Amino acid sequence: MRVAVIGGGIAGGGVAYELGMGAEVTLFEQETTCGYHSTGRSAALFTECYGDPVVRRFAMTSRAFLEQPPEGFSDQPLVRARPVMFIATHDQGAALERSLADYREMVPTVRAAAAGEALDLCPVLDAEVIAGGIIEPHAADLDVHALHTAFLRGTRQRGGRILTSAGVTGLTRAGNRWTVITAAGTDHFDVVVNAAGAWCDRVGALAGARPLGLVPKRRTAFTFTPPIGPGPHPWPMVIDVDEQFYFRPEGVHVLASPCDETPVEPQDIRHDEIDVARGIERVESVTTLQIRSVVRAWAGLRSFVPDHRPANGWDPELPGFYWLAGQGGFGIKTSPAMSRFAAAMILHGAPPTDLEARGITAASVGVERLSGSRELRVES
Ligand SMILES: Cc1cc2nc3c(=O)[nH]c(=O)nc-3n(C[C@H](O)[C@H](O)[C@H](O)COP(=O)(O)OP(=O)(O)OC[C@H]3O[C@@H](n4cnc5c(N)ncnc54)[C@H](O)[C@@H]3O)c2cc1C
Repeated sequence: MRVAVIGGGIAGGGVAYELGMGAEVTLFEQETTCGYHSTGRSAALFTECYGDPVVRRFAMTSRAFLEQPPEGFSDQPLVRARPVMFIATHDQGAALERSLADYREMVPTVRAAAAGEALDLCPVLDAEVIAGGIIEPHAADLDVHALHTAFLRGTRQRGGRILTSAGVTGLTRAGNRWTVITAAGTDHFDVVVNAAGAWCDRVGALAGARPLGLVPKRRTAFTFTPPIGPGPHPWPMVIDVDEQFYFRPEGVHVLASPCDETPVEPQDIRHDEIDVARGIERVESVTTLQIRSVVRAWAGLRSFVPDHRPANGWDPELPGFYWLAGQGGFGIKTSPAMSRFAAAMILHGAPPTDLEARGITAASVGVERLSGSRELRVES
């Protein structure tokens, strides 16, 4: 089977790697390097307490791969332990209780932390404003570069081709085959996998597919130098319980985000200084930190379909067209299980049994569930 994967981010890289076991894969990336867009701009967090239950199950089933990847996959660890601490101010008591119950339902090791413990773990928090927190002890920092590079290297080792500066500009179907037209030439495939991140609906339109209603949303991040370092006990990742900001150490700096979600068109997104200022204000409002200057700021796109689950399935109307879209703010941490799911659907026509046993079914992530919100097909 010849498979074209469109997009060289974590989604395209992961599925190309998994497909390499049973198919002849060519990955097409429009940029000069893979991972230039969302994948290269994330906060690199592994948590099992974020998103819809299906997203959380994808993360949980990715943990084993990330902690113990296959022999020879990567020469460095893909995860480094760092607990997450969700924090609440005195007027966020209800959100704290609600979140604790929600998180514990799927992750029993999650526990409440009194304000004193929260301050012990992150001494720059302001004792006057912090009411308490929730600790997820088994969260981690991800080495996104190591994971992404290993997916691409593994793809090549399995005989796959990776073409950069090869933006797909046309997709036509004749008989049982897709013709993929790119700046680098034209080729023919049995299956096309649409893993084009924020551009998935655009790539779908090239094939004549109905859009999924994908909305790319800008998210800003920045780093600054704290006046005092984290000390001998590294801080946890600190996240506002209502997702209004987060921060964590990043080397000698601190990485922070205002958790903005501004809908935009797919593009090489830049940050807006207003969002950085908002992030500074939010972090300062719960800490004793005074952020005098920013070391680096950037923005990336988190793309969502209407129900905020991933779209991982065959297009019901276009034979041989597979969607791997809508990875929102969880595309890195879920990539091992998401890729394995997509590859099993393509190679064997059914999800992996261990993922199904965890409640990740073709119906729960497939594209049919979105048919109510899918608009009329765009004629190309
Ligand atoms: C600030 C921020 C923080 C985040 N934090 C986390 C986190 O802590 N944990 C986590 O798991 N996730 C996080 N995410 C989300 C994560 O980064 C994304 O879900 C993930 O990177 C999406 O990967 P992708 O491969 O779908 O998209 P991308 O990385 O954008 O890759 C898509 C690729 O397709 C290519 N492409 C598009 N059109 C074409 C075409 N026509 N032909 C060829 N190629 C094409 C693009 O050039 C691009 O390289 C964060 C995102 C942001 C922005």
